[in-house]
Amino acid sequence: MTPEDKLLTVTLVGFSLWGCWQLIQWFRKAPVTPNPWDEKTEESLNQPDAMPLCRRCLESHHPDARYCSNCGLPVDSMVPLSPFHQVFALGDVLLTGTQRRFPVNWLTVTGFVLLSMIQYLVFAPFYWFFLLRNVRRLQTESLSSHGINENSSGTKEHE
Ligand SMILES: [Zn+2]
Repeated sequence: MTPEDKLLTVTLVGFSLWGCWQLIQWFRKAPVTPNPWDEKTEESLNQPDAMPLCRRCLESHHPDARYCSNCGLPVDSMVPLSPFHQVFALGDVLLTGTQRRFPVNWLTVTGFVLLSMIQYLVFAPFYWFFLLRNVRRLQTESLSSHGINENSSGTKEHE
């Protein structure tokens, strides 16, 4: 190692340490707030007539409701703690893979495959059949929305 290389290495390590120190100082000086939203949003959340919204369909529901009356999603705040409600929440997630629209990519499909393996064990291949059917449907819809249609002979043509 030449003296220039040593000098370059020491300089790069020094800049890296300085950068880490600046990052730590930036985190330490940042204001500590319990919520990521601003004061106005916090104030509107604490209004007596504020209604919670469903995470999926954004329909308002009663604060004590266990399921969304519009789409059926478990909205109870105790869902993460209740094994009984977790069954419905996981079932709802897996239902998204077979019947609803979701961003089709390797991460989402792998997630559905792994989650179904954990949930359904030996019955997972049945789920995979419906999952792949939904993925094909979504990909076909995506292609047709980009102006590509399949005619009766199976060849693709532009509109
Ligand atoms: Zn809903």
